[in-house]
Amino acid sequence: MNHIRFRDVEVFLPMPVFPIIEDVGWWQGEDGSAMQQPYRNAFSRRHCLADYQALARFADSLGVRIGLGMVLCEWDRKKVLRDIPGATWLGREWNNHINQGPWLDETAEYLQDKRDLLELGLHGLCHEFWYEGGMERSEFHDRNGVMRSPQVIQDHLDAFGRILEHNGFSEFPRLFFPPALNHSFGNGPQSIQAILHNKGIRHVITRFAKAKRFASPRHEKISWECGVGLLERGQAPVPWNVPASLPSWDFSGPILPLHWGNLLHPDPEHNNDIIDGWTAMLLARTVGPELILAENFDACWRQAAVFYFGQLFIEGQSIVVDLRARPVSMPYYSGPFYLKIRAAQHGPLDIEGAQIISDHLDGARIRTVQLLPKEGVERVRLLLPWERNRENGVEYQR
Ligand SMILES: [Zn+2]
Repeated sequence: MNHIRFRDVEVFLPMPVFPIIEDVGWWQGEDGSAMQQPYRNAFSRRHCLADYQALARFADSLGVRIGLGMVLCEWDRKKVLRDIPGATWLGREWNNHINQGPWLDETAEYLQDKRDLLELGLHGLCHEFWYEGGMERSEFHDRNGVMRSPQVIQDHLDAFGRILEHNGFSEFPRLFFPPALNHSFGNGPQSIQAILHNKGIRHVITRFAKAKRFASPRHEKISWECGVGLLERGQAPVPWNVPASLPSWDFSGPILPLHWGNLLHPDPEHNNDIIDGWTAMLLARTVGPELILAENFDACWRQAAVFYFGQLFIEGQSIVVDLRARPVSMPYYSGPFYLKIRAAQHGPLDIEGAQIISDHLDGARIRTVQLLPKEGVERVRLLLPWERNRENGVEYQR
């Protein structure tokens, strides 16, 4: 249970909300799928620096380091992809000169500068896979979730890393968003997760129902294997090829999956109009006690673990957050998580088993408390002294 009432106090384990933006990185806007080229964003113009500035504005206004699913073939400066089997429709004839210009340096520098707002994740090189000139969906798995050979995957990951390096980025991504949601999991050392982990990927965000599953996930929304956490991505609220979209989402899970074009305007000068609509909607909807914006993916993962596995119950004069159902084999769960408390009156909190990292009360009397469980503690206890005082006829004075 993620919500409990104790007299006039309600405690919530809020669901995290974390936006991810896929298909970032194209320079060309054209959807090439009818010509055996990639599905790009079906956008009416070339992309430009303003399209990245819009993403940074989005992240900054939300207070979240958002995740970007990058496609990097059009950032290739050194014909790296000529030697990568299946990476492009042109094979050995691959040439990216049309996308080489001052915008590469300018944008790379901008992304370095905004690294605290925008986390570059892996989506793919060209998103799809080419066999004898024909395009197949998608790069790392086919439509049936059959994984491409480990060597092909390794070659594609290495090429992604080299293109990043050639553009001045030294770190390989930690986040992977499988292109076209074709993926597989549950086969342990034979899984793509094993290969991804070797390369530095720590989290995969995808739709479990679309993936080929060799074994059931640990939980229907969250799983892990070979040191890689998998989190349910959910369905995109807007089709990938709809530009300048109006904000709308059912908050059905922790991940808000959007595509770059959804957030951009055909006139880049109006990008902020689109972005600001989404920001306003997300800020308004996460004020309540049931939801919380996660400040980065790590916080999202930890909060999702608590949201899916945590239990709240009353014991004596206290509320217990019981985390014992969270399996010890789960990676990356240690660290702080959030509670929200709704009450007509708030007083000092007395917590056993955890350190209070932050404690913030908003105008709607909803209190957001960030707790760091002490080493080895799986039951955190909240004593509500102001409730006890009231019982004894002493109203707590703020
Ligand atoms: Zn995509």
